[in-house]
Amino acid sequence: MIHLPTASWNVAKVKELFLPFEQERILSIPLSVRLLNDSICWDLEKGGDYSVRSAYRAIFGDYEAEIRTSGSSSSNFWGRMWAAATLPRVKVFFWRARRGALPTLVGLSKRIPGKNIVCSVCRVEDESELHCLRDCITARLLWDECDLGSAMTGCFQSFGELAAACFERLPREEHGLFMTVCWEIWGARNRWIFEGERCDPRRSMDYVTKLISELKGEEGKGGCVVGRARQRWIPPPAGWAKLNVDGGVCEGLGSSAGAVIRDEKGMALLAAAWSFEDLWEPRIAEAKALLLGVKAAVEAGFVRVVVESGCQGLINAMKSQEDGRSCFHMILDDTRHFCSLLGSVSWSFVRREGNRVAHVLAHSMPWEVGGRVWVADFPSTVCSTLTVYLSMNES
Ligand SMILES: [Zn+2]
Repeated sequence: MIHLPTASWNVAKVKELFLPFEQERILSIPLSVRLLNDSICWDLEKGGDYSVRSAYRAIFGDYEAEIRTSGSSSSNFWGRMWAAATLPRVKVFFWRARRGALPTLVGLSKRIPGKNIVCSVCRVEDESELHCLRDCITARLLWDECDLGSAMTGCFQSFGELAAACFERLPREEHGLFMTVCWEIWGARNRWIFEGERCDPRRSMDYVTKLISELKGEEGKGGCVVGRARQRWIPPPAGWAKLNVDGGVCEGLGSSAGAVIRDEKGMALLAAAWSFEDLWEPRIAEAKALLLGVKAAVEAGFVRVVVESGCQGLINAMKSQEDGRSCFHMILDDTRHFCSLLGSVSWSFVRREGNRVAHVLAHSMPWEVGGRVWVADFPSTVCSTLTVYLSMNES
């Protein structure tokens, strides 16, 4: 059932032998490339060890939200939410959204049976919090404008789950921005429905940016634009190569990864893309991308490598030598194994924009399962993204 060279499931076999809900569960389990002995791990605790607390929560049905909110830091989701740098009314709004308590049609239908629940704006999907704040037209326009959109890919049952995942994926200083954009999406949506005012994403984001800047006391410093202040890709020191990696999940279809290695001038030396039918969680996909990228660097003979990812939790875990028995930690151990074959490795976190080429690669071949590595004749999408970012860095 396991395809050893790529450490992935034989999906055809799994589908032949198991029921759909079992297939989904099996395909979400990442596999190790190191032929480890089987071991039991408790997936409801971050470190993989059993705890009564997590079992209690599992029984009472709240474990999923808990596991997503417990994350890499000790403080909980709500604590981080109330501490975020944004207006009190945004926090109250976000708290309601997270509890599924916004006046959406889906919410209202629970009190008024028989109510039509199809979205009043797009008329395509049911009007839930998740739809309004991530998937509907105004939401998409604003997420594209502010560049946080890639943080919310994946399959979620509710806005609460999405919010918890985004708090994990985004650096803490962006939580306020994330919450404020959700709030502005809701406002823009209501202005559209009730006042007929079309959504202007640029203007909405300017408003959000100004608000956040004022809160941070940055007003008047000029050119300080939150969400636009994209971290650029920075070349590695002379004699080093920089590896950027990115993982992706394609709802219900599979997972993907991309990696690019560049020299100190920003020239690509290696590009790679992988697609799997395994249904990993986003965090696992990010960790797998890191593993595959490092493995590709080893196989191509690189010696000194700066490894960079847009997943801060992952980079922190590698830097701090985080240990555990969970699936996530198994992949970290796999990665350490390959790192030991490199001469020197250093770790770096970059915001999304600085990781654009790896992101493009991770989404470059969703239709074919397997991996591809290029050392010349790079795919055209990669070349064009590279050119854009080289010129940006020169400007
Ligand atoms: Zn809609």
